[in-house]
Amino acid sequence: MAQLYFYYSAMNAGKSTSLLQSSYNYRERGMNTLVMTASIDDRYGKGKVASRIGIETDAQVFSSQDDLTQMISDVHQAAPLSCVLVDECQFLSKEQVKQLTHVVDNIDIPVLCYGLRTDFQGELFSGSHYLLAWADKLVELKTICHCGRKANMVVRLDGEGKVMREGEQVAIGGNESYESVCRKHFREFIWD
Ligand SMILES: [Zn+2]
Repeated sequence: MAQLYFYYSAMNAGKSTSLLQSSYNYRERGMNTLVMTASIDDRYGKGKVASRIGIETDAQVFSSQDDLTQMISDVHQAAPLSCVLVDECQFLSKEQVKQLTHVVDNIDIPVLCYGLRTDFQGELFSGSHYLLAWADKLVELKTICHCGRKANMVVRLDGEGKVMREGEQVAIGGNESYESVCRKHFREFIWD
């Protein structure tokens, strides 16, 4: 039986690297994979998943309105898929996570989702919310805070490197950056 996986972490824990490695492992054995990514992420241009260590692959881009069951079924009919890998899965809608459970349960293709658990204010993203609720396997990818503790939170920094407490959940086109921190330091930055 296929399963739905949610690989979650803070920023810069190697999510894309892990995704690309998993896809490679399938392809090395002659199996076909489909790599998908959310259209909201244009860090590396549309239609690519790239890791910070310099490897990348083409990806099918989806928007929040797309029917993922349909997109995946179309590809699967042309060339049978052994695995679907979704990057930036925090941006999935509730409906799209449901569609992925259909792909796993009814088409029997494993789906591996990679994304952030929480936003810069410590709140769940919609995709992460429903993946935490419905995935078969939850796997944490770890990274560390500047203090050496495990970093499970993310802070948003403005152009001058100051921590931002307010703003939209997804900032597009600004010069914000993100840093992974432990909960203790997140509390000091955001909650205290
Ligand atoms: Zn810390």
